[in-house]
Amino acid sequence: MSLVGKSGILEIGKDAYGIVHEGGATNSGFIVGDEGVIVVEGLETKKLAHMVKTEVKKVTSKPIRSLICTHFHGDHSLGNEYYLPVNVIGHALCRDEMIERWDYSVNRFATRYDENDPAQAAEHRNARPTPPDVIFHNENMTLYLGNKRVELYYFGKAHTSGDIVVYLPDDKAIYSGDVVTEGSGAPYSEDGFPASWVNVIENIDKLDIETIVPGHGTIGDKSMAQTELQFLTGLRDETRKCYDANVDATQAMSDISVSGFESWSDGDMFSIAVSRLYKEFSGEI
Ligand SMILES: [Zn+2]
Repeated sequence: MSLVGKSGILEIGKDAYGIVHEGGATNSGFIVGDEGVIVVEGLETKKLAHMVKTEVKKVTSKPIRSLICTHFHGDHSLGNEYYLPVNVIGHALCRDEMIERWDYSVNRFATRYDENDPAQAAEHRNARPTPPDVIFHNENMTLYLGNKRVELYYFGKAHTSGDIVVYLPDDKAIYSGDVVTEGSGAPYSEDGFPASWVNVIENIDKLDIETIVPGHGTIGDKSMAQTELQFLTGLRDETRKCYDANVDATQAMSDISVSGFESWSDGDMFSIAVSRLYKEFSGEI
């Protein structure tokens, strides 16, 4: 039975779970093997880490051995410290990015709580930097939990410099981090590389996938990635035309409309994506 559109604690494969939310809260998951558990995404807070650990305990008494960090953003990683002393696994560029941008990340999330939840804001400001301490530099890394095979892929810059996706070949399932999200508009690319992102999703599209646990949104199948690919490809091509015609970036933001995605072709996220594309084309990023 397809899980597409579903949320909750879902078994997305054999001994593999998604913790999936409607309405945009950051998703996570965990994989149980003979030798222990791998959690995907440290999430943002102590409270959320506790929630994930509680869900793990409902399924197994085996220990959490590793935590996979898909990218440096705080909603995916400020909670990493509550899993220590596990290994935090990620790409080398994610490690660099998390170290270099720790203060930015903490501030971005802490300020959201300053007014209504000062204790949570303080937790963020006191967060311990926990970049990946087991890293890979190339395109992939494979983990085994006993017989359970977990493949990590880095296909290039996308939503950030250091995004990885977590692929379970036996289950045809993937935890995509924010490289794929349930779309209702231009994806968040404040720290992103939308032109390179196209290539990354093209690579994901080559994998044998039936189930996607997106970074945000309900469960998808391959069409979720393909929709985002179609939008980003259209946006890249339209923006390139403007760039080549020396249209200034601000004008391009209002001129461009991606065919088939008219309702996505507006708003702050759309403007940010156009501006990031201009920087990619000029070589500034
Ligand atoms: Zn993100």
